[in-house]
Amino acid sequence: SYEAEPLARPTPMMEQYIEIKATNPDSLLFYRMGDFYELFFDDAVEASRALGITLTKRGKHLGNDIPMCGVPVHAADDYLQKLIARGFRVAVCEQIEDPSEARKRGAKSVVKRDVVRLVTPGTITEEKLLDPSEANYLMTLGRVKGTGQGQFALAWIDISTGTFRVSETDTSRLLADILRVEPRELIVADPVFHDPELRPVFDVIGRSVSSQPPSLFDSATAETRIQRYFDVSTLDGFGQFTRAELSAISGAIAYIEKTQIAERPPLMRPERESEGGSLFIDPATRANLELLRTLSGSREGSLLKAIDRTITGGGARLLAERLTSPLTDPIGIAERLDSVSFFLARQSLADPMREALKGVPDMPRALSRLAVGRGGPRDLGALARGFEAAAEISQVLGNEALPPELAKVRDQLGQLPSDFMMHLDQALDDELPLLKRDGGFVRAQYSAELDEMRALRDHSRRIIAGLQADYMEMTGVKSLKIKHNNVLGYFIEVTANNASVMTDTAEAKGKFIHRQTIANAMRFTTTELAELETKIANAADRALSIELGVFDTLTNETVSNADAIRAGAAALAALDVSVSLAALAEEQGYCRPLVDDGLAFEIVAGRHPVVEQSLRRQAANPFVANDCNLSPEGPSKGAIWLLTGPNMGGKSTFLRQNALIAILAQMGSFVPAGSAHIGIVDRLFSRVGASDDLARGRSTFMVEMVETAAILNQATDRSLVILDEIGRGTATFDGLSIAWAAVEYLHEKNQCRAIFATHFHEMTALSEKLPRLSNVTMRVKEWDGDVVFLHEVAKGAADRSYGVQVARLAGLPEAVVNRARDVLHQLEAGETSGKADKLIDDLPLFSVEVRRQPPKLVQGRDSALLAALSSVNPDEMTPREALDALYRLKGLA
Ligand code: ADP
Repeated sequence: SYEAEPLARPTPMMEQYIEIKATNPDSLLFYRMGDFYELFFDDAVEASRALGITLTKRGKHLGNDIPMCGVPVHAADDYLQKLIARGFRVAVCEQIEDPSEARKRGAKSVVKRDVVRLVTPGTITEEKLLDPSEANYLMTLGRVKGTGQGQFALAWIDISTGTFRVSETDTSRLLADILRVEPRELIVADPVFHDPELRPVFDVIGRSVSSQPPSLFDSATAETRIQRYFDVSTLDGFGQFTRAELSAISGAIAYIEKTQIAERPPLMRPERESEGGSLFIDPATRANLELLRTLSGSREGSLLKAIDRTITGGGARLLAERLTSPLTDPIGIAERLDSVSFFLARQSLADPMREALKGVPDMPRALSRLAVGRGGPRDLGALARGFEAAAEISQVLGNEALPPELAKVRDQLGQLPSDFMMHLDQALDDELPLLKRDGGFVRAQYSAELDEMRALRDHSRRIIAGLQADYMEMTGVKSLKIKHNNVLGYFIEVTANNASVMTDTAEAKGKFIHRQTIANAMRFTTTELAELETKIANAADRALSIELGVFDTLTNETVSNADAIRAGAAALAALDVSVSLAALAEEQGYCRPLVDDGLAFEIVAGRHPVVEQSLRRQAANPFVANDCNLSPEGPSKGAIWLLTGPNMGGKSTFLRQNALIAILAQMGSFVPAGSAHIGIVDRLFSRVGASDDLARGRSTFMVEMVETAAILNQATDRSLVILDEIGRGTATFDGLSIAWAAVEYLHEKNQCRAIFATHFHEMTALSEKLPRLSNVTMRVKEWDGDVVFLHEVAKGAADRSYGVQVARLAGLPEAVVNRARDVLHQLEAGETSGKADKLIDDLPLFSVEVRRQPPKLVQGRDSALLAALSSVNPDEMTPREALDALYRLKGLA
C-alpha cells in the first residue's frame, strides 16, 4: 500500500514562532533573530510587498517552503514607519534571555522570546515615526447600553505628549466629533464595531478603526483600572465622569497597557471637554472648507498651511488643534486675541521671542520617549535646551504688564523645575551620542569616579602607545604595531618576514607570546599588554555603568517632573501660537475681529485667506475684498443673502471666505478683513461643491440632499450656514423647488445666518416675500460679447448667467458656443411649449456637417469659418440676427 511520507515536525524555533504568532493574529510579527527582525509566512509576503524588500525562504513547514524576509534591527524604525503608514500593526518580539542561558538547557533549546510591544498607528513615540506638526491620537469609543443622552463617549490620547481628553457624544454628532480629532487609530469594543447602526460611521473612518474585546471597555471595572494606572486610590480629584466616559477612558488605558506591555507611558489626567464648548463643524463642512487638508488630501492649499507661522512642533500642533476646535465663549476668544494684539503692538518683544522659540525642541515627545524607556541622551539634551529657551523667554517677558493668557504663560515658565534644570546642565555634555550605550554623554567633573575611570582608560591607552615605541626599539622592527580587535583585544602585529625577530632574538625571547598567524603577519601579546588591556576594559566598563546610572537618575527625575515639564511646554506652545498669529496678522494685514454674544455677522472688506495668498504668489490681479452683512435688524434674527451670478464669478470663494473668517475669529486669530463683527456661531454648516462621496457609490444628488437634510435639521438661530447650488444635481424644476423650499425653511424655521448661492434666477423673487432675505450678485462686465468677472458682490440680482460666455472662455469649440447661443436665444424668446420641437428640428445641423464634410485638413481659421457658417440657419433668423451673423462671419475671415 502507498504510504505518504510523514511531514517533518517543525523545528523548535518554528514551533515557538507559530505559538507567538497565534497570539498576535492582527499584527505583523517582527521575530528577533540576532541583528535582524525576521518575518515568516504571510507576514513575510505582505511585508516584502509593502517594504519592497526581497522575499526569500527558510526551511519547510508542512512540506511547503516557508516564505521569509527580514529587516536589520538598527534600521527597524524606518521600516516600522512605512508599515505603520500603510496601516499595519507590528508586534515586536525580542529575545528575552541571553543565548548562553538557552544553551545551558540543551543544545537544541531555543532562546526565550516574547512580544515586548505592539506598534500601532495610535501608540507610537519614536521621533522618526511622528510628524512634528501633528498630534498623534489614539481614540476609543465607549458605549453604555440604554436610552437617551450620555450613551456614547470618546476618549483620545496622544501618548507622544501625554494629552488625554474625553467627551460625551451622541450618534448624531459622533462622526463629526471623531473627524474633529482626526485620530490615527480608533478602538471600539467588538459589539460596537458590529452594530449595523454605526456601520456608516466606521465606513467613513475606514481602516483606522478596529475592535477589541469588550472587557477593555467594561465600565464596572473602569474605575479600578484608571486608579491603578494613575496610582491613585480614588478618582475624586479627576472630576465627574459619566459611565460612558469611564468606559472610553478605561478602553484607552487598557489598549495602551496591551500595546506597551511592560511600559507605562505617563499620561495626563483625562480632561473633560464639555459639549458646546467648541464650534461644531459637521464632517462635510470640515472637509469642504479644507481646514487641515484639501479635498485631495494635500496640506498645500489648506487653511492651516496658509495661516501657520509657528516655529515649534508644539506650537504647530496647538495651532491645528485650535483651528479644528474654535471656541464658543467670547471671553476665551477675547483672551486669545489680546495675546495676539499684544505682540502686534510690541514688535520689540515679538522679534526676540521668535528668535528664542527657534531653540525650543519637542519637549513633550522627548519626555514620553524617556518615560517609556525608548529615550536617549539627546532626549535629555532636548529637555535641557528647552529649559534654556524657556529661561531666555522668561527674561524677554520680564516684568512687562501682560494680558491674562500671557501672564499665565509667564507663571508656568517660572514654575519649571529649577533643581532638575540645574542637574541636567551639570550632568550632560555638549555633544551627545544617539544611544546611551555609546556612553560619553556625561560631562567631565560631574562624577569624580567617572573622571577617574576615564583617566585610567585614556591613560592606559597612552601607555599602550608608549609601549609600541618601546617594543619597536627593543626589536628593531620599524613596522611593529599594537592593534585592537574584538576577538583578540590588544595585540602586537609584525609582518611575516619580521616574525623570527620576535621569537628568536635574545631580548624578545620569552617576552612575546604568540597568539595568531595570519597571511603575511604574526600576532603576539605580552603580560604588560594583557594587564593594561584588563585595566582599560575594566575602566571603560565601569565608566559606562556610571554613565548609565546617571542616565537612569536623570530619566527618573524627568518622569517625576513630568507635569511641570508638560505645563512649561504647553506654555511655550501657546506663546508660539500667539506670536505667530501676530506675525501672520502683520504680514497679511488682518484685523482684530469683535466677537460677542449677539447675532451679528458683519464683515467689511473680507478676503479669502487661501485664495488671496495664492493670487499674490502668482502675481495675479489682487484679491477683490467683499462685504457681508447677515446681522439681524431690529428684533429679527439673522439674515439670509441670496447670491446669484455667473459661474467663475467668485460665488463659492465668497461663501467660503465668510465661513473661514468665522472660524479664524473664534479660534482667536485676526481675520482677513477691514473689520469684522461676529456674534458667536455655535454650528457651522456648509454644502459646497461635490464631495468625494461619489467613490462610495452615492450619487451627487443623494449626497447633496443628505447634507442639506443635516443642515435643515440641526442649524439653530446661532448657526452659520453656507449653501452652494442646492438642487443642481437634478432636473431644473425639481432642483428649483427644493432650493426654494430650503431657503424658506432656513428663513422661517432655522432663522440662522446664511448665504445661499444659486444659479436659479427665479429664486430672487423670494426677496419680495421673505423680509430677511436680500439679493446680492457677483458683478460682471460684458465687453465685446465676452464677460469680465469683477469678483464684486453687489446688491441686486444677476440678470443672466453668462454660461455660454464662460463656456467659450473654457475653450469649447466655437461652433458649439455659437449653436448654444442660438439655442439660448430661442429658449429665451419662445414660449414654453413647442420650442423644444423646434430645437430638435435643428438638430441635424452638426451631424450633417460632420457627415458631409470630407475629412480633409482645414486650417484653424477656415474650420472656424466653416463651423460658423454651418451654424447659420437662415430660415430661423430675424433680419437683425442675419446681419449679426454676417458680421460675425466677416470677422472670422
Ligand atoms: P464660482 O463659485 O462663482 O464659480 P469661484 O468662487 O470658484 O467662482 O471663483 C472662480 C475664480 O475666480 C477663483 O479661482 C478665483 O481665483 C477667482 N476669484 C474668486 N473670487 C475672487 C475675488 N474676490 N478676487 C479675485 N479673484 C477671485
